[in-house]
Amino acid sequence: MKEEYLRKLIVWYAVVPLKRLPYDERKLVLAARKATHQSHSPYSRFRVGAAVKLVDRTVITGANQENASYGLTVCAERTTIFSANNLGRKKDIVKLACTARKAFDVDGNPIAENDYCAEPSLSCGACRQVIKEAEDLHGSPMILLFDAYNDEKILRFNGVESILPWGFSGKDFGMDLNG
Ligand SMILES: [Zn+2]
Repeated sequence: MKEEYLRKLIVWYAVVPLKRLPYDERKLVLAARKATHQSHSPYSRFRVGAAVKLVDRTVITGANQENASYGLTVCAERTTIFSANNLGRKKDIVKLACTARKAFDVDGNPIAENDYCAEPSLSCGACRQVIKEAEDLHGSPMILLFDAYNDEKILRFNGVESILPWGFSGKDFGMDLNG
């Protein structure tokens, strides 16, 4: 392939200690951690909480909600974004934080309530697409923070494109998101 056809995808992200985050982002991560307690996850025992910040600084939280019919499970990011949408704030989301923690260790033994995963988990594909829609509705890149109860390691992305390159949008088929 000729070199002019080659394009390199560069993903920019930062690994930031909690205390180095801007104050509002620190608060958002802590809100996401608190939201893990609202998780209904008896099947995976993977507690996930999310928090979004709106343009007027309102914070809305959510957690993953599982079901005995596994396929009906909804992730924390989507419950949170849809909560904002249901409050009439679908165009107002500017930042999102997501925290995950385990409720048992690799041997299946219970662990402390605040124990954490080794690494932050990034959103699943479905949530990335929903985040993209929220970002498109707002019209500018959303700050994304991924946390695993490790104060030394928060992953910070500027815009969903970093985790969903060439994502699908209603704009692709001429949809007016303001309609
Ligand atoms: Zn998801």
